[in-house]
Amino acid sequence: MVKSHQHSGSSQVRVVLRVRPFLPCEIRSKEFAAVPCVAVLDQENAFGDEEEVTVQLKDQWTSRKECYKLDAFFNQENSVDEIFKTEVSAVIPGIFQGFNATIFAYGATGSGKTYTMQGTEEERGLIPLAVSTILSLCRDSEVSVEISYYEVYMDRCYDLLEPKTKEILPMDDKEGRVQLKGLSWVPVHSMDEFTEVFSTGIQRRKVAHTGLNDISSRSHAVLAIAVSNGAVRGKLNLIDLAGNEDNRRTGNEGIRLMESAKINQSLFALSNVIYALNNNELRVPYRASKLTRVLQDCLGGTSRALMIACLNPTSYQEAVHTVSLAARSR
Ligand code: ADP
Ligand code: MG
Repeated sequence: MVKSHQHSGSSQVRVVLRVRPFLPCEIRSKEFAAVPCVAVLDQENAFGDEEEVTVQLKDQWTSRKECYKLDAFFNQENSVDEIFKTEVSAVIPGIFQGFNATIFAYGATGSGKTYTMQGTEEERGLIPLAVSTILSLCRDSEVSVEISYYEVYMDRCYDLLEPKTKEILPMDDKEGRVQLKGLSWVPVHSMDEFTEVFSTGIQRRKVAHTGLNDISSRSHAVLAIAVSNGAVRGKLNLIDLAGNEDNRRTGNEGIRLMESAKINQSLFALSNVIYALNNNELRVPYRASKLTRVLQDCLGGTSRALMIACLNPTSYQEAVHTVSLAARSR
């Protein structure tokens, strides 16, 4: 069976690439040619979902090259809004019918994950875009929208909508579905309400874990939006994954090395789960990490998932590290 056919026929997780623009300081530093380390080689614009792209990663110093196949590629000119329209908005109606979906931002620190998910004052990220779309769809109806926000750090889950540090434990319910016992769900009726709750959570994430520095790029942050309509409840998870690191290159020690080992372990577990789903394997190793365990009912089965692999255009090494794992997941 050819790879593209196998993928488009049975895939449950789309894997797309996004390269961020050069930052002003990167343009000024002139240590690199103003050519991003990644480009699209060909775009097999076949029929319908048969579509896939081949990207080439190229090292400007050594001229080393590698190619990978992915589902789509977003370049420096593509806005978050375009990603939202082409990749995310189609899953939203399903949430209202009780289906679950998960969107991941994956990549090294500095590659644009938080920019893509959370956004900035200038450009809204996928999280606010999803919330506002969902809210606009439930005007004048019996639908309720709730959000939860938690992080997974060193294989433990912490509620970010609670004023005090509170660990959340995933447990199986009677139907065998995973439940996050004690997790707060806050009702939101407007974007203003959402923004207030979410920004408090973001602040909390920055100051949590007393004694440690900002760990926000070393934990996975999960923003979940639940839409309930009578007995039907669907969930959309938007996840800003911890930055994947290459320890051979970063020279981490002590707690940093331990954190980084946990991060890489959980990202590898995630990639294994996605691989198992995309290849219709009977056993999906959800229990290999807390991250995959808490997402168990939102990955696989009838759930939809999308991984956005984010790239810094100046780093070939990082790109190889990120894209090889992302492409392996398909
Ligand atoms: P990460 O969360 O992966 O560590 P960030 O989202 O913090 O990375 O992005 C790193 C830097 O790049 C930030 O200064 C951010 O504002 C900038 N940036 C990321 N993506 C874009 C983009 N698409 N357009 C403009 N600036 C971006
Ligand atoms: Mg970040």
